Amino acid sequence: MRGSIKLFKAFGIAVRIHFSFLLLPLLFGYFYGLKGVVLVFFVFCCVTLHELCHSLQAKRFGVRVDQIILLPIGGIASMGSIPEKPSQEFKISIAGPLFNIVFAIILFFPFYFILGPENLFNPDIETWPQTFAYAFWINPILAIFNLLPAFPMDGGRILRSFLASKMEYVKATRIAVGFGHTFAILFGFLGIFSTPPNLILIVIAFFIYMAATQEGMQVDIRSTLKKFYVKDVLPEQFLHVSPGSLLSEVLAISLHSHQEDFPVVEQGKLVGLLTRSNIMYAIHQFGMQKQVKDIMTRDFPKLHVDDPLTKAHKMMEEWRIKAIPVVYKDQIVGVVSLEDISRVYLLMSGKR
Ligand SMILES: [Zn+2]
Repeated sequence: MRGSIKLFKAFGIAVRIHFSFLLLPLLFGYFYGLKGVVLVFFVFCCVTLHELCHSLQAKRFGVRVDQIILLPIGGIASMGSIPEKPSQEFKISIAGPLFNIVFAIILFFPFYFILGPENLFNPDIETWPQTFAYAFWINPILAIFNLLPAFPMDGGRILRSFLASKMEYVKATRIAVGFGHTFAILFGFLGIFSTPPNLILIVIAFFIYMAATQEGMQVDIRSTLKKFYVKDVLPEQFLHVSPGSLLSEVLAISLHSHQEDFPVVEQGKLVGLLTRSNIMYAIHQFGMQKQVKDIMTRDFPKLHVDDPLTKAHKMMEEWRIKAIPVVYKDQIVGVVSLEDISRVYLLMSGKR
């Protein structure tokens, strides 16, 4: 994510902090001095560990986890698609809040005896004991807030996993998205009408609303694509280029056809992929005289004509590319693009 810096790497996952997160220690430091900064640091640790628990559980199920980013509204673990299997989604989602609950239980007795009940149950940022009491309550608060069934927050995912074990995944998701939207509107109202208005809650509301809509759409797309195979959408004709071709030649070809991504073929063998973004980048960086072999992508996935379209869609998401070469009996037979896939969705879903 733009505007973030990497802090450290844990279990192969980069933990990054967004610059806007730095506002928190500055603000809390300004208003509450060192106590405020310590409190923010404690929040940071609890949120990071919460996200790490999600991530490690996800990795156990083979989900790719790129990084964890800390924003002022909370942490986000950016990972590949969450498994559709209800038990796996449940375990991944519960891991974060469960950490906060267990951590709170572990901390309770030492904090109770050291701070005393008069401080522990009276959290504030006035005195140091009260500040530590505040820090203690961060964990139960994080657990409860995240367990609200506001999809796609943890509680919402847990709700979907329960529903999905009883009904179709698409239907379960639609209900969960409804919960997400309802909670988002509720948080929005609470944020606006509290005195003073709670900006963080308003941002969270907005974020939940958008994320719920997006996840609902993703699931819709996937369920439509399930009925189709790569061969159903593969364009009948395709053009390819050779490693020695000049960019100017490629541009001439691409202006004459609808094809935007080209397999690079040398003596009948697929050696690279020239995507639209490769071409656009190279034209602006190097001009027209560059050769295909200097700008093509060499590391890319392949699809078989009999692969389901859901696989194509998933691969594009995972590899962050918009076109994948298709092979049949070791021969390149075309390129399937995100547009080809979107066309199926648009035609079949009846959305206009
Ligand atoms: Zn979580």
